[in-house]
Amino acid sequence: MREEIKLLVRLQALDLWLDKAERMKKDLPQQIKDETRALEEAKGRLERLKENLKDLELERRTKEKEIVELGEKVGEKKGRLFQAKSNEEYSALIKEIEALKERISRLEDEVLLLLDRMEEVKGQEERAQREVQEKEAALEAARVRAREKLQEMEKTLEERKKEREDLVGRINRRTYQIYERVKKNRGYAVVRAEKYTCLGCHMEIPPQLFVEVKKGQEIVQCPFCSRILHCWEEAPKEVEGE
Ligand SMILES: [Zn+2]
Repeated sequence: MREEIKLLVRLQALDLWLDKAERMKKDLPQQIKDETRALEEAKGRLERLKENLKDLELERRTKEKEIVELGEKVGEKKGRLFQAKSNEEYSALIKEIEALKERISRLEDEVLLLLDRMEEVKGQEERAQREVQEKEAALEAARVRAREKLQEMEKTLEERKKEREDLVGRINRRTYQIYERVKKNRGYAVVRAEKYTCLGCHMEIPPQLFVEVKKGQEIVQCPFCSRILHCWEEAPKEVEGE
């Protein structure tokens, strides 16, 4: 088989690898973006719970203050009981005291409910806090991973690009132009032919043409998809070490 056809097959394997590597490189910042978003969301949840807790605490304090004030009023009214000048005044005071006590008791119930609710929110807050820490660690790990992977990939990419230059230098300029043109139009340019069929477009190729491909002496293009055909059974698909 003509050496050039083998070179084309290797060039294609290299190009497939390079495309894939470039795609992977682009995906790296995306992973960091995803982790960052997850962290921001966790922080948002924590913030909202903290605000919620603050509101509940304020509500509790307001109610407790009111209880104290109402208690003082009860004391004051109790003091006035002894100075009541008539039965009417006395019963009016008693009524007022009872109403105040009732209000105090209601407020105390409300405070208890608030304390329960605060306990619950505190539990949620602790969980959210842990989640934030986990997401921070995950983001840091993703950053380290991406940095390492990128360095490693850059190095290999450089090597492979040099390798590509060497290969291209050994391929006839005209053939390389065909390769590039077909690759641009079809995604990939070199394909195996088997049993009179182009494995790129699965069309049956004329027997005479297939014989030419088998011989491997000329650059033969598929009459249907224009891909360069070969019959190299052990052709590499992609170069190793992805
Ligand atoms: Zn074809």
